[in-house]
Amino acid sequence: MPAELQGVGVSPGVVVGPVARAGGEVPVPADGTTASDPAAEARAAAEALEAVARDLEGRGQAAGGEAQGVLEAQAMMARDPGLADQVEQHTQGGRTAARAVHEAFGVYRKLLGGAGDYMAARVADLDDIRNRTVALLLDVPMPGVPDPGHPFVLTARDLAPADTATLRRDRVLAIVTEEGGPTSHTAILAKSMGVPAVVACPGATGLADGVRVIVDGGAGQVVVDPDEARVQAAEARARARDAARAAVVGLGRTSDGHRVDLLANLGGPGDVESAVAAGAEGVGLFRTEFLFLDRADPPPVEEQAAAYRSVLEAFPGGKVVIRTLDAGADKPLAFLDLGDEPNPALGVRGLRAVRQRPGLLASQLDAIGQAAAGSPAEVWVMAPMVATAEETGWFRGQLGDREVAKTGVMIEIPAAALTAGAILAEADFASIGTNDLAQYTFAADRLVGALAGLQSPWQPALLQLVAATAAAGRSAGKPVGVCGEAAGDPALGLVLVGLGVTSLSMAPPSIADVRLLLGRHTLEDCRRLAELAVAAPDAAAARERVRAATASLEELGL
Ligand code: PEP
Ligand code: MG
Repeated sequence: MPAELQGVGVSPGVVVGPVARAGGEVPVPADGTTASDPAAEARAAAEALEAVARDLEGRGQAAGGEAQGVLEAQAMMARDPGLADQVEQHTQGGRTAARAVHEAFGVYRKLLGGAGDYMAARVADLDDIRNRTVALLLDVPMPGVPDPGHPFVLTARDLAPADTATLRRDRVLAIVTEEGGPTSHTAILAKSMGVPAVVACPGATGLADGVRVIVDGGAGQVVVDPDEARVQAAEARARARDAARAAVVGLGRTSDGHRVDLLANLGGPGDVESAVAAGAEGVGLFRTEFLFLDRADPPPVEEQAAAYRSVLEAFPGGKVVIRTLDAGADKPLAFLDLGDEPNPALGVRGLRAVRQRPGLLASQLDAIGQAAAGSPAEVWVMAPMVATAEETGWFRGQLGDREVAKTGVMIEIPAAALTAGAILAEADFASIGTNDLAQYTFAADRLVGALAGLQSPWQPALLQLVAATAAAGRSAGKPVGVCGEAAGDPALGLVLVGLGVTSLSMAPPSIADVRLLLGRHTLEDCRRLAELAVAAPDAAAARERVRAATASLEELGL
């Protein structure tokens, strides 16, 4: 076992602690068993699936925010009528409940696997539901997070949403996974919890329970069984970071006073508390999909308005950017039947989907208009997945006389970045979604972990598109922010500022680190780092060169 493991750091911070490995394998139920009472087996299987669905929902409610959406989608899979039919067919054929569930998921997996990369990427979620259901039926321990009775560094092959959603911040010191990429559930949820995390880390699952490790979630490094001197050095870095974070408060600015709005990404009203606690100056991306998940019909205008109002009230004097519904691809919504698409990420999604259902957009804009009236916060509205200036103009036209402060669009398609000048002629602002922009620039599905390298926001090609969009914003005198995961990486945040973006919006726990590092650099430093990154041959070199030229990273464990 090497003394050091290297992976991809996806959530910064340095901790020292003992390893605890995530849940064991659930056995494959034996075949060939002939059940004496098929009806009873069918009932037991249905009850177990329903119990798993309810458990997932309960975990979702306890977790709130983005996690809730993910877990509710999983609960919906457990309740899928097609799956229930498959289970029943297998019990009628004489199989036990556990084996019938195992078989039915096998059929279902194959169906999904044949339905394109996006569905194939959901297979890990399906396996998790299958394992939970089989564990219940066989009465063996549930797979998932261990509870050794003391704080621990969680290691796993990869974590299912159900595991990460209910991790206790006071128990889990850090997360290290063998698989996963920068946009995996593990990465996004670890960041939203503020827990250091390293993914795509070979050797992680080989670490024994109880072995002491240092995890550096910034550098992506895991030191195995370190000596006392290294432990003390790591602990000193963690203390330095905590002290430095606490000392820097107030508005985001460089050390020479260049202002950058530091904003929060919210997955629902449940995220407001952590955004306010982190000192977010406002909200740069309010994802509204949570309102539409798991329902047969769109939510009434009043319900939407109340949800928007509850967020606006938390940011008096700040701005709140509400993104209209971004349905499709990685955000499937049951009530919006988009039909069978061979490539959902390239299909009728985002603004394209609501353009086919203008009533849906109109009622959301009504709700936003109602919430904006008399709001203590300034309301900005933006559309997702915009490709052209024509679409931008169409969206602006839909606003009518509803009173919002600014109307803008997300730049997450390369065509939009390249024509940002024309788009900004039709909009008041733009916000770059680097998650999708990376996906479309590299033709690399954001849900496929194996393509993590291509989805890196450090890719020079992606940074060039950011630079082009920011330049268009400067020429037009209009704000251009970044609201993808990239904005929450403190070193990359410097690069983005150097490229000319005017705001950074991120998961709330990242704000303190970004504010801290920004305050230690001048605008000129940021520009120099941006040049280094854009000129690098690839993402890894860009990240390495920028990190090597940014002194405080090492000291602060960022
Ligand atoms: C993005 O694509 O970068 C983004 C912020 O939007 P979402 O992650 O919700 O697609
Ligand atoms: Mg997006």
